[in-house]
This record gives sequence, C-alpha cells and structure tokens, in this order.
Amino acid sequence: MPLTIPNQPVLIITLILGITICFGWIAFALISSSENERIAFRRSLLMAIIMACPYLIIGQVSFKYQILCAQILLTITILALIVLILPLGRKIYKPTAVPDNYRIDERDTMFSRSELQPETPRFVEYYHTHPKEKISDDRFRQKPGLLSPQSQYYDPYYFNAADAGFNTIECMRDRVEGTINPEKISVIPAEISRFLKQWVLQLGAHSIGIVRLKPYHLYSVSGRGERYGKPVDLDHSFAIAITVEMDFDSVGTAPLAPTVAESARQYVNSGVIAVQMAKFIRELGYSARAHIDGNYLLVCSLLARDAGLGEIGRMGLLMTPDLGPRIRIAAVTTDLLLIPDKYIPGYTVEDFCRHCKKCAVNCPAGAIPEDDPKNHNGINRWKISDAACYSYWCVVGTDCGQCMRVCPYSHPNTFFHNVIRTGIRNSFVFRRIALMMDDFLYGRTPKPKDLNYPAIDG
Ligand code: SF4
Ligand code: SF4
Repeated sequence: MPLTIPNQPVLIITLILGITICFGWIAFALISSSENERIAFRRSLLMAIIMACPYLIIGQVSFKYQILCAQILLTITILALIVLILPLGRKIYKPTAVPDNYRIDERDTMFSRSELQPETPRFVEYYHTHPKEKISDDRFRQKPGLLSPQSQYYDPYYFNAADAGFNTIECMRDRVEGTINPEKISVIPAEISRFLKQWVLQLGAHSIGIVRLKPYHLYSVSGRGERYGKPVDLDHSFAIAITVEMDFDSVGTAPLAPTVAESARQYVNSGVIAVQMAKFIRELGYSARAHIDGNYLLVCSLLARDAGLGEIGRMGLLMTPDLGPRIRIAAVTTDLLLIPDKYIPGYTVEDFCRHCKKCAVNCPAGAIPEDDPKNHNGINRWKISDAACYSYWCVVGTDCGQCMRVCPYSHPNTFFHNVIRTGIRNSFVFRRIALMMDDFLYGRTPKPKDLNYPAIDG
C-alpha cells in the first residue's frame, strides 16, 4: 500500500521517524547477515516491523485522537533518546590500582604447570609445595590434550595448521634478543615513539601503546623452558604493547578447530611484529627484548592495560575498546627513552561485566565466576579457574574461546557496533538496554557458527 503524506507537521515527523526506524533495523539486519549472524538477521527484521509499526500506523491511519497519539509518541521518543544519550554513570567503578609489590610467579600459571613432566625434579618439587594444584592438574593430565588427535574436536587440517603456527613461534624464540649496535643513534623520544606507532600499525598491529615498565608487569620467577625457576630481572624502563585482531569468523566457530588455528596465526603475527620491533630498536643502539607466545617475561594483559589499550574484564582478558577480548598481545621492552601513553581507566567495563555474565554462563568448564569481583592479593577482580579452563582445552583439543566468541564487546569493529560501544561507555541506561538487546539479537547462549565446518570427512 503506498504511503500518503499527512497534512499535519506532527504526523509527517511521526511518519518520517517510522520510516527511519524501519530502514535502520533493515540495515542492521543486512549487516547481521553479512556477519553470518542468522538469529540477529531474523530478529532485526522483526524489530523493523514491531518498532516502526506504531509510528507508521499513527502517521497514516486517520482516527479521532490521531494528533494526540502522535504527540505522545514523539514525546516518549524524545525522552527515551535523551535518557539514552545523557552521560549517566560513566565513572561508576574505578578499577583498583595494582600494588607495586604485586608479582605473579610464572610457575603458577597453567601453561607452566602443563609442561611439567611427571617424575622429573621440577614436577616433584612444584607439587610438593603446591599439593592442592596437584589434584586439579592430575585431571587434565588424564585428558587427550591440546591439539591431540584423540581430542573431541580434532581436525587434521586446522589442528596441523595450529601446530605449524606454534612451531613457527618456537623458531622465533631465539630471535627475541640479540646483539645491540654499538654505534648508538641519538633519537628524540616523541619522534621515535611516533615513528614506532605508525610503523607497527603498518606491520599489521591493531593497536599499540607505550608504558613505563613497573615491577608488577614482570613475572617474579620464570616458569617456561630453560628459564624455569630463574628470577625475572629486566633492566628496561619502557614497554611497548601491541594487539592484533583475531578473525571474527574463526572466533565465531569457538570451541571448534578453526579457533585454535586462528589463535596460532595471531600469535605468529604478533610475534613477527614484536621481533621486528625489538631488532629495529637494537639496530638503533638500544637494548630491546620481544615478548612473544611462550616466551613472555611479563603479564601481557596488565601491561597492555597500563599502556592504554583496554581494561580487564570478567573473563580475565584485556577488553579493547573496539574489539573487546578478540585480540592477541605481544610486547617489546627496551631502555630506549619513549613517551608513555596515558592509562585511562575503563570505568564502565566492570559495570557492564557485572550485569552481563555471558562468558560465565557460556563457559563449558564453569571456569568463570558469576559473582562480583573479589579481593585477590590486594586487587579487586574476577579470577577464572585456569585449571578448569585448561582441563576443558585438553578434552576438546582447542583453546576453546567460547567466552571470547559470546562476549558482546567482540562484535566487529564497524560503524554500527562502534555507535553501540560509545553508548555503552556513555550511559548506564544504555548499557542495560544494550545487554538486553545483545541477548535478544544474538541469543543468551549462542551456538558456534557453522562456516562450512567441518570441511573434512571422516
Ligand atoms: S576458554 Fe572456554 S573453558 Fe576457558 S574460560 Fe573461556 S569459555 Fe571457559
Ligand atoms: S561476556 Fe560479558 S561479562 Fe564476560 S567479559 Fe564480555 S562483557 Fe564481560
């Protein structure tokens, strides 16, 4: 039925609003379709009808109180818009500062514990002093293991692609350090900081931040490979943290095999950038060390947070402003004088996470707490059960990533999603509505996407 133009301004505005809302939702449906979000596609079309209907009916159908109804509808719309746009609750929770004496012993991390071989002196010594961990760790040792052919989601292509990636990273590990050019080139801190940022983005990093190195950024004791048991003592004053984006579609399949291949790919990509950056700085005549997967001397998420790249959320990962946790991190530490970036606390992340809990609800291992943050060694935060998480990895053979997949912050870095992200940072009312809409559009417990996966028979 063709639309007729009403003769009253209030009815014309009502009609225009109805058409705008309708096309807005249709546009969102098309975007959702391009993102392979089938539920969001269908529900956006439904929203296009439901939300636009009152405006279109009042704007088109003549009845006794038509003008009054249009006035009421427009008033409600304007009030709703004001409430959504008003900056309310922008600084609702201040993230707790990390005490300077806070240090993590890398030997307590899951990756270090998973490398302990039964009957070896390291194994015996570690579990002698950590009998509680022995009970939980024995559980994952009985499972097939990460990338194991016996694991639940084994896929010869993706698993071997991941293995090739991790192997490449291993080859890069002896490149993280190197000789320093004895002829030091004098550089201006602001200029070299600017150059590094431009160059690293050209190399494929998603974001980069510079931070003055603090003791708590470093592990107290190393827990991997030949460095096992050695105190971490790094004579560098600055660190450069970089993030690389993980492919949205691959993460969308989590916990299936493509997600672990993507993790490996991005560990390689971030590692290549970090190794190049460290080499470049050493060529300028300054000490520099790259910190890449399996070879970190520092706690990447804390470092990247202080470098202004994001905030730590419920699942314990860095939540970047435009990709959420859908990233990997690498870093370079150096004695080259740089201009540090400012850490701006992500005040709204905790508020959003307190109400969202989607990662916790969807975690198949029950590793993510659903309650409020608690004090852990002087820091108010959520602490995930790394043993439960890793045990699940050893069952499925991948690094799971369901928490990352379902997180509302993980949506693509596009105009529409960024408008929502801005609203989330701006107002607590917007945050509550955004959460409800995320659940409605994408589902509270969304299933992994089937991107023609598994592609291999048998
Ligand atoms: S990776 Fe999987 S098992 Fe681990 S915390 Fe996330 S959802 Fe849970
Ligand atoms: S899924 Fe929700 S609760 Fe979990 S980290 Fe993301 S925003 Fe926070």
